[in-house]
Amino acid sequence: KQQQKQGGGGGGKAAEAAVTPRSEDFSKWYLDVVAKAELADYGPVRGTMVIRPYGYSIWESIQSYLDARFKELGVQNAYFPQLIPYSFITKEAEHVEGFAPELALVTKGGGKDLEEPLVVRPTSETIVNHMFSQWIQSYRDLPMRVNQWCNVHRWEMRTRPFVRTLEFLWQEGHTAHATPEEAEAEARRMIDVYTAFACDMAAMPVVPGRKSRIESFAGANCTYTIEAMMGDQKALQAGTSHNLGTNFARAFGTQYLDKESKRQPVHQSSWGVSTRFIGGIIMTHGDDKGLRLPPRLAPIQVVIIPIVKKEEDRPAVNEAAAALEAAAKAAGIRVKVDSDERQTPGWKYNHWEMRGVPVRVEVGPKDVASGTCVTARRDMGKEGKQMGVPMEAGAFAAHVQGLLDDIQRGLAEQAKAFRDENIVDVKTYDELKAAIAEGKWARGGWAASDEDEKRVKEETQATLRCFPFEQPAGPHTCLMTGKPAAEVAIFAKSY
Ligand code: AMP
Repeated sequence: KQQQKQGGGGGGKAAEAAVTPRSEDFSKWYLDVVAKAELADYGPVRGTMVIRPYGYSIWESIQSYLDARFKELGVQNAYFPQLIPYSFITKEAEHVEGFAPELALVTKGGGKDLEEPLVVRPTSETIVNHMFSQWIQSYRDLPMRVNQWCNVHRWEMRTRPFVRTLEFLWQEGHTAHATPEEAEAEARRMIDVYTAFACDMAAMPVVPGRKSRIESFAGANCTYTIEAMMGDQKALQAGTSHNLGTNFARAFGTQYLDKESKRQPVHQSSWGVSTRFIGGIIMTHGDDKGLRLPPRLAPIQVVIIPIVKKEEDRPAVNEAAAALEAAAKAAGIRVKVDSDERQTPGWKYNHWEMRGVPVRVEVGPKDVASGTCVTARRDMGKEGKQMGVPMEAGAFAAHVQGLLDDIQRGLAEQAKAFRDENIVDVKTYDELKAAIAEGKWARGGWAASDEDEKRVKEETQATLRCFPFEQPAGPHTCLMTGKPAAEVAIFAKSY
């Protein structure tokens, strides 16, 4: 009854719809959106989460795009076991040092102590190399490229749904090549795939670049990253690609016979994007009303709401809604009709706005009579409402597709403008500190030591996010030492 009364106008505050405004408390807003848009729930074990069907369908959108791209590039899917002998992890010195604090171990099986503990995979370079060393004999077997979609476990201390969980879903690609140049090219190609995915599909204008030594993957020669700016200006590492050199190949004896029949270690890359990306989408585009999904990744792109005040109108309105649904479907648009009779239209507006559906279509008896309907955009207020949209299948689908394209572009532009506004060029450490204190990203020349980099982290909580591929024209001066610097780096607080 309460909901019935409040609904109807589109702006009614149904109990379900209330998320903490983003402008009020970003962190609380994020957790509210995750819970109330039914994206995820907490698992019974600290730091674990249940991905609910709506959240999982966003993951499926991410998977379907990336999986197709990987296959176009000649990568094949495979599956490796989740349990890894502990001895494997210890074979690559830096790898074990980096991962040891985050490992989950299985020490019992079938009620007995195991002879050797098993690691629940935190990543699969070791077990992949164990297999590659058996599968790769000669240069003819190279390049070898596999990917797996799976879960991994990392015993994280600070956790947050999607962004950092003990167990997460991801894809991990692993490749082996004959030359260092090919491994490097592969690592770069995959970070380009992630960059294109983030920009074109997620409307997330990421900064691609190279990680510092300190921030690189444990066991990699070099790590490439895409860094995204969230709505609270914090950075999010949204995907990474590593040039592993011959580090794992040497530890596992992954070798091939070259054309002169000489044994050579393979050169490798690995790369991954996880369910963290969903957190990135939420925190890039969300607003006070909740989630805003980029149309290309939205599981539901259009929701159609039949508006029935008198029972006798219901059949005609439902029929019109079904016709619009069919028209959208035929045009390849992901569409849903919400004909739940228990809720008012206003309640439904809030419900689907909070879930980030890009376009809403309203159809009532007057519309049916005039052969038109009403559309509303999730990225706009009242000014995004359009009356008199023709119901004729072709014209309707074209109109809706136009809106989806516009929203996709608009979200990307908005996010890019926000990012650019919040990156400050700095010349000295004092300027860096001031920029970070204001919540900005600081960009400046950097040629200082690892110790200096650690000091920045201790004193400001900001970390070196990356040396962006796209460098401003030089010459540059190191903000810390005042000496000439070959590159600029970006520092920011991060998730
Ligand atoms: P890495 O193998 O450490 O390079 O991780 C690959 C990607 O997985 C990172 O770039 C993150 O986007 C993501 N990731 C790392 N740790 C977590 C975590 N605890 N929860 C969710 N995603 C993660």
